[in-house]
Amino acid sequence: LLPGSVDQQGRPAAVGVMGGGQLGRMFVHAAQTLGFEVVVLDPDANSPAGAAAQTQIQTAYLDAGGLAELARRCVAITTEFENVPAEALKTLAQQRPVAPSGEAVAVCQDRAAEKAHFAGCGVPCAPYAVIAMAEQLAAVDEALLPGILKTARLGYDGKGQVRVRSRAELEQAWAELKQAPCVLEQMLPLEREISVIVARSAAGEIVHFPVQQNLHRDGILALTQVPAPDVSAALQQEAVACARRIAESLNYVGVLCVEFFVLRDGRLVANEMAPRPHNSGHYSIDACDLSQFDCQLRAMTGLPLVQPRLHSPCAMVNLLGDLWFDDQGRQRTPAWDQLLALPGVHLHLYGKTEARAGRKMGHLTLTAATAEQALATANRAAALLG
Ligand code: ADP
Ligand code: MG
Repeated sequence: LLPGSVDQQGRPAAVGVMGGGQLGRMFVHAAQTLGFEVVVLDPDANSPAGAAAQTQIQTAYLDAGGLAELARRCVAITTEFENVPAEALKTLAQQRPVAPSGEAVAVCQDRAAEKAHFAGCGVPCAPYAVIAMAEQLAAVDEALLPGILKTARLGYDGKGQVRVRSRAELEQAWAELKQAPCVLEQMLPLEREISVIVARSAAGEIVHFPVQQNLHRDGILALTQVPAPDVSAALQQEAVACARRIAESLNYVGVLCVEFFVLRDGRLVANEMAPRPHNSGHYSIDACDLSQFDCQLRAMTGLPLVQPRLHSPCAMVNLLGDLWFDDQGRQRTPAWDQLLALPGVHLHLYGKTEARAGRKMGHLTLTAATAEQALATANRAAALLG
């Protein structure tokens, strides 16, 4: 699986990725840098990763022919999205190394399984109840209210969640969510949100990225700061230790992100995890000597994993589709020329042709000599674009 190796036909070794979104696109860039070809499997003809890869297989994720072709072409396979059918990964794993495994991904896809896993490795999470049947709804402990009802599967960017204050609101919310299997979580008093990304190899080597401090707006990540400015060293160590434990006990191979809440009383609580690189780790491309996508490639191919080092304080700002519209709702192009005149700006656009409100179109990483300067430039960038 060494970079630059060729097959019997003289073709460069290829790695495969399930899914063609922006995470896949950034993975493609990392893999191509080491001389690998990349094959993307995604049903969408206009996928951001497919546009960057050598080859896109355009079939459904469970299409037997598509999966067979991916396995035939690739020396190892990964996923760039959480909701890839775990069955597809299991099918691929019969022929090729697949990281992360379908089994690990299945745990991350289900909030109830995820929380049970946190508890199983001694990592605290919010008090919760599983609501899959009317009897479970009726039996809910009042102590969980006010709370947030979340669909157990397929939620992202705050979608599939309803905040509820009373039993009546809870019943209404479950009806709104079409009585899908859910978890009800107690609403916790958040001081801030952080995340930790780890990468683990099949041999069990594990490395981690520095703690990321995250600010969400309307349920969507808006700003990530590294180093985390408002989190004590002790708490950061605890978060890293928890993330490593979670990965180890899943026998995880690949990149895993764990989101945490820091509560007002200082306690650390795990929120959710993602079996892939994460939006809060995009800064690592520009501010670390090894990015989360480099680590994904290394972990899946069995290449050495080296502890990443942050070489610059930074701030990462998401660029949502809203920026492509003015106050009157008319389409416009954001002022990239003015933006690129700022110091330490790293602009990443994902090549999506259609801008929509709330859609992730790109991100900016601001690197600077100090964390304060990075944040100041992030604020100037936001003012320029807004
Ligand atoms: P998603 O999959 O959409 O990211 P999350 O479970 O991470 O879903 O929830 C989105 C955001 O909602 C969190 O980042 C946090 O700001 C808020 N949130 C979620 N759960 C709770 C909770 N139990 N208490 C307080 N805030 C919460
Ligand atoms: Mg989240």
